[in-house]
Amino acid sequence: MKGLMMDRPLLISSIAEHAARFHGSREIVSVTVDDPRHRTNWRNVVSRSRKLANALDRLGLERGDRVATLAWNDHRHLELYYSVSGAGYVCHTINPRLFADQLVFIINHAQDRWLFTDPLFLPLVEKLHPALETLEGIVVLTDDAHLPETSLPNVRSYESLIGDEPDTYEWPDLDERSASALCYTSGTTGDPKGVLYDHRSTILHAYAGVAPDVLGLSSQDVVLPVVPLFHVNAWGIPYSAGITGAKLVLPGPKMADGEVLCSLFNDEAVTIALGVPTVWLALLQHTEKTGKRIETLKRTIIGGAAVPRSMIEAFRDKHGVEVRQGWGMTEMSPIGAVNTLKAGLEHLDDDAQLDLATKAGRGVYGCELRIVDDEGTELPWDGEAFGALQVRGPWVCSDYFRLDGTAGTHTDDGWFTTGDVATIDPEGYVAITDRTKDVIKSGGEWISSIELENVIMGHPAVAEAAVIGVPHPKWTERPLLVVVLGEGKSADKAELLKYYDGRVADWWLPNDVVFVDELPHTATGKVKKLELRKQFADFKLPA
Ligand code: AMP
Repeated sequence: MKGLMMDRPLLISSIAEHAARFHGSREIVSVTVDDPRHRTNWRNVVSRSRKLANALDRLGLERGDRVATLAWNDHRHLELYYSVSGAGYVCHTINPRLFADQLVFIINHAQDRWLFTDPLFLPLVEKLHPALETLEGIVVLTDDAHLPETSLPNVRSYESLIGDEPDTYEWPDLDERSASALCYTSGTTGDPKGVLYDHRSTILHAYAGVAPDVLGLSSQDVVLPVVPLFHVNAWGIPYSAGITGAKLVLPGPKMADGEVLCSLFNDEAVTIALGVPTVWLALLQHTEKTGKRIETLKRTIIGGAAVPRSMIEAFRDKHGVEVRQGWGMTEMSPIGAVNTLKAGLEHLDDDAQLDLATKAGRGVYGCELRIVDDEGTELPWDGEAFGALQVRGPWVCSDYFRLDGTAGTHTDDGWFTTGDVATIDPEGYVAITDRTKDVIKSGGEWISSIELENVIMGHPAVAEAAVIGVPHPKWTERPLLVVVLGEGKSADKAELLKYYDGRVADWWLPNDVVFVDELPHTATGKVKKLELRKQFADFKLPA
């Protein structure tokens, strides 16, 4: 027997209209190229999204066509999010920090028809343009007065595109499984792969994100996503904020600028921020240098890479801010696990709670998790056994765009293999020990590079660290610690290695230490282990 409930599709346009109606006057503050502190609100953003939807229809686009964005976090990018998806097209957010050949590959593979770009990226687009096969026109995210000179054909400003359009628009009644957005994985090996979200997956994920133990958003909150809108939909924030009517603060091109971030936090009374660990290193260094405090922030959600214990402590002890670690992937929209204390664990002492907080998190309802061994047999949740982490759920990809099941990432019984290696403890907390390809294999046993990095990040002289496996004649591989020291700090090899005493098993101890000025980062701010491995492939470890 079927239930008797209405069959209303879960559509992104419904979030826009909800936000405009119930939270219209709630502010959206942006740093843009043409305005260092632009102020608008949900009502205006949605009104301008409707104008843009009229303009997109007029461009002659058809349902499902891809419209690309190359842009930082600001109100125009947010308008694109709602407009492109809401009108039935696919919003393809592109990471501008990728290499030129990756960008060309992605735009051609996605068959993007129009590109909306920040003025800052016009020189980049000019360089790529001869190789772009499907692009028909370019819209620059500014007004005519700020439109830079360009040699590109068919270019216009965003404000002139939407200026004369009506602010009324009948959002189409789409099938909720229609594609809504496209995001390519950064692809450390092989070509980037496209993850194609749909309206249903996006809304279910956004609902989950709002929950108290996940991102925990309410209309009272002021949210600053440092995570870019081109990195897995800024972890769903544009949608979750629209559902709740949270105020948004969008830092534009100033994402990695500790000083700008700090003043945005304090001036706009930000309560929740989100980003990868590297951006928080910049912010913490800035506050340490200037003695400034982050005053109103309640919590920062950090994911995309392991969060060092020292970062959790610095936020807590110096700023009274809770660090909430999350784990996920582009393929998972991205939220899979989030770390909050479960009822019944309050008795843990401070040290044990900190240990727990360094884990990736516990499963979020809507994303099932399991770990398996090489034969695909499920492993116990005892916090000891580690294996390949697999997930399934309504916001996990079932395939990659235009790869037709050839990626080899899905199991016959319908799970997605994440490429991460993890343990899961009896309470359901997941600890990521490594990416499968970063695990250090020493004498048939595995050493977790992430754990070695986390420990050394606690040393006061260390600003950033990476541990990689380098070839070893007897043990196959042994760990090498690559360190960036903090400004004006000093420490020698022996001192750093001594710091591991009692903190990891003796046989995990790195065989050597190299000091570098900086570590290579991926386009989303993670340490590029692959590049480090290549760089140190011929490194001779001491006997
Ligand atoms: P991306 O698709 O670019 O967001 O990258 C996803 C990958 O980032 C995951 O498969 C993990 O390897 C890594 N990652 C994300 N969150 C965490 C975390 N909390 N701890 C360790 N690794 C993480």
